[in-house]
Amino acid sequence: MPDIKAPPPLLMTPGPVPVPPSVLRVLSAPIEHHRTPAFQKCFDRVIGALPGVFQTKNRAFMHVSTGTGGMESLLVNVLSPGDEVAAVVSGKFGERWADMAEAFGAKVERLNVEWGESVHLPTFTAWLEKQKPKIVLSQVCETSTGALHPVREMAQVIRRRHPDCLFLVDAITALGAMPLPMDQWDIDGVVGGSQKAFMIPTGLSFVALSERAWVRAQTAKCPRFYFDLRAEDEANRRGETGFSSAVPLMKALDVVLTEVATFGLPLLYKRIATLAQATREAVQILGLRIFPSTPSPSLTAILVPDGIDGQKWRSLLETQHGVVLMGGQDQMKGRLLRMGHMGFIRDTDLVTSITAIAHAGREIGWECSDEKLADALETAHEILSETPSPWSET
Ligand SMILES: *Cc1c(COP(=O)(O)O)cnc(C)c1O
Repeated sequence: MPDIKAPPPLLMTPGPVPVPPSVLRVLSAPIEHHRTPAFQKCFDRVIGALPGVFQTKNRAFMHVSTGTGGMESLLVNVLSPGDEVAAVVSGKFGERWADMAEAFGAKVERLNVEWGESVHLPTFTAWLEKQKPKIVLSQVCETSTGALHPVREMAQVIRRRHPDCLFLVDAITALGAMPLPMDQWDIDGVVGGSQKAFMIPTGLSFVALSERAWVRAQTAKCPRFYFDLRAEDEANRRGETGFSSAVPLMKALDVVLTEVATFGLPLLYKRIATLAQATREAVQILGLRIFPSTPSPSLTAILVPDGIDGQKWRSLLETQHGVVLMGGQDQMKGRLLRMGHMGFIRDTDLVTSITAIAHAGREIGWECSDEKLADALETAHEILSETPSPWSET
């Protein structure tokens, strides 16, 4: 009997994201050792291409870890216990980084931003004036709410008023998904993650430091070993990783970065922004609202109307319609449907998802007419046609 199975569900979550077929193919190749000439070439290409994604003239690094490991790497390389750290907390990931800094002995002050809101610059400026921190932490996009923070302007405020303060950003749903030129914007530390905009499975994190941060890294007192970037830098300069390389993931990354190089990062950003715009216009025509006041292009958090059970909606989408979205967490549990725009997403995947949202919603008592749905799909098609998928495979 041939092994024919039902197609897998459409993964439309903001990480992990669907990966290109070319990535699936390299992931199924036999295991290779990391000290071979063939893998050496792959490593050289990847490590050579990474700074381009960060838009930095400094080196960029890979850790075999989830994104959270990369957040830890940035922190432990520049922190000394007792340092004042100012952390923007606008959702789950902001909480995580603030808690982590505390675990490493920092004196953490949190700037609590209402869920769904973005940093308000005058408030941020006044808050820093009081703190005079050594390090500021913020997400670029707070994935739990879909909100985008004005990190470029935040960096300007920090530079102007607190010249020695380091600005570290969690760009796990931003790096590779939208312009984030770290040198030009004068950001001191950036972290990205493999299962988000990098379009490969979970298991690699990517970090880069500014020159200012490298100076701090020489004297920072926080204990560090696995994530010691000084050691990783030395190994990389010898053409090696500090510990075993995650060979399959790096080969997958090589495939993605090579393909992206053929059409360029700007087109990738544009495609992601187009998927976001098509989603937002379509769901608003259906009568739904977007949760964050300034949404990030990397995902859309849709507000579930009052009186409708969002958990049931999400679960019906997955079990009956084959579309996987994420719900809300904590205070937004059952109140959000979050759809990602990163990864290998074809026009038909988006159109299918919007149709499924409408149908599953109706099944739990939300009203949406056929006319609205037709209008929403028409609009989505029109917007998508402006920036077709740049991938060579469909
Ligand atoms: C996904 C995500 C993380 C955590 O990444 P893991 O790979 O799950 O450790 C951190 N910050 C943001 C903004 C994210 O989207």
